[in-house]
Amino acid sequence: MNTKIKTFIITAGLFFGTASAVFSQDRPAVQSLCDKPMEMMDSIPLMDMLLNESDILPAEDLYDNWSNDRVRFNAVLPDSFRVDLRGFTMPTTNTKITDVFGYRPRRRRTHNGIDVKVQKGDTIYAAFDGKVRITSYQRRGYGHYIVIRHNNGIETVYAHLSKKLVVQDQVVKSGQPIGLGGNTGRSTGSHLHFETLLMGKNINPELMFDFTSQRVTGDFYTYRKGVYQEYDKKTGKIVESAEKLYHKVRRGETLSVIARKCGVSVNTLYKLNKMNSRTVIRPGQMIRYR
Ligand SMILES: [Zn+2]
Repeated sequence: MNTKIKTFIITAGLFFGTASAVFSQDRPAVQSLCDKPMEMMDSIPLMDMLLNESDILPAEDLYDNWSNDRVRFNAVLPDSFRVDLRGFTMPTTNTKITDVFGYRPRRRRTHNGIDVKVQKGDTIYAAFDGKVRITSYQRRGYGHYIVIRHNNGIETVYAHLSKKLVVQDQVVKSGQPIGLGGNTGRSTGSHLHFETLLMGKNINPELMFDFTSQRVTGDFYTYRKGVYQEYDKKTGKIVESAEKLYHKVRRGETLSVIARKCGVSVNTLYKLNKMNSRTVIRPGQMIRYR
């Protein structure tokens, strides 16, 4: 090889190598400008870069795989995540809630969603823009059900449907009819069982959707890890407290043993579980200790 060409290749390599290093060093500097007042950002290319960054859909940032099988899955959730609720559609125009989200000590299981009374054949709508991840049938559970992954990062489940109007991997718009209400699966009386999830973990739908008033709780909802959140309908605010924690009773354990293990007093257990000194606990039972 001619020495002149060789020198050119080396120089070019050095140049491009240095250029990309400078570019990657620049990126944090660009991001830090976000915190500074608007007048600081006077260059058009910079504004374009910032706008392009916000073009990335939250869902693309959160999830790195797409699977058509499981509704819930294990993933490491961010410490906090802001869900954009603008552009919502209420999944049903019905307003009567027949069951709320939460743990049921008597049945020793969690009700992962909210139940809203619907008539068989009532139209069920996609809550936000997104893509249908699952359409399936569970004879003893959800019946006919649909799971949608939305662009804003959350996933929604619509269960006990009489008919599905969408297919797996279909892109849907907020408000698009996706199914008809029904009574399929483990259900007594036609109703919509509706769930909201973030990265495979259930979140109380009432933190985002108020079926009674047919509105969302605000333009945004912020999920916070390790925090128990409740929507206060009176004030229209989300109230936060320490997350509720439960202990599963093992054979031979008494309330005082559990209290010691969980680092709380027996009285706390009495209060949280509406129990007293005469209450008999059984192995497998869930005892709330915080
Ligand atoms: Zn339900």
